[in-house]
Amino acid sequence: MSKYLDLAIELALRNVEEGGTPYGSVVVKDGNVIGEGVNTLHITPDISGHAELVAIRQAQQRLGRVDLSDCTVYASGHPCPMCLGSIALSGIKKVVYANSVEDAANAGMPLTKNIYQYLNGDHEAINIEIIHEPIVEDSKNPMIAYTNKKNLEA
Ligand SMILES: [Zn+2]
Repeated sequence: MSKYLDLAIELALRNVEEGGTPYGSVVVKDGNVIGEGVNTLHITPDISGHAELVAIRQAQQRLGRVDLSDCTVYASGHPCPMCLGSIALSGIKKVVYANSVEDAANAGMPLTKNIYQYLNGDHEAINIEIIHEPIVEDSKNPMIAYTNKKNLEA
């Protein structure tokens, strides 16, 4: 097992000892750990306090850029859809994890598994009503305003 995954697992074990959930993560660039995090929801009421997001935020602040395409994420548990989305939006190309979403569900944390099921088309897996109300007036559409501004700048 990679020493970086070992480190993520070590962080997760320490987080459990400190009253948190069993999640730790590190971001690695060129063999150096440039971000590390644990799940901080037991400390701060902020859903973005997932281990991967904490580690990614630290790496981005350290590098001064959003793009982390030259980095690898190591996580003690399979990233949830929020973290996986952030990983993809940061350009990260590789994730190594230890515990599966089934492991988390068996430990009493089924949400990640349920959200992936939802994304796979099982719309009963989570109870969220999503309503699409398109913008009818172009002059009030932020997407069109953005496109027009971009075209003017080009
Ligand atoms: Zn997450």
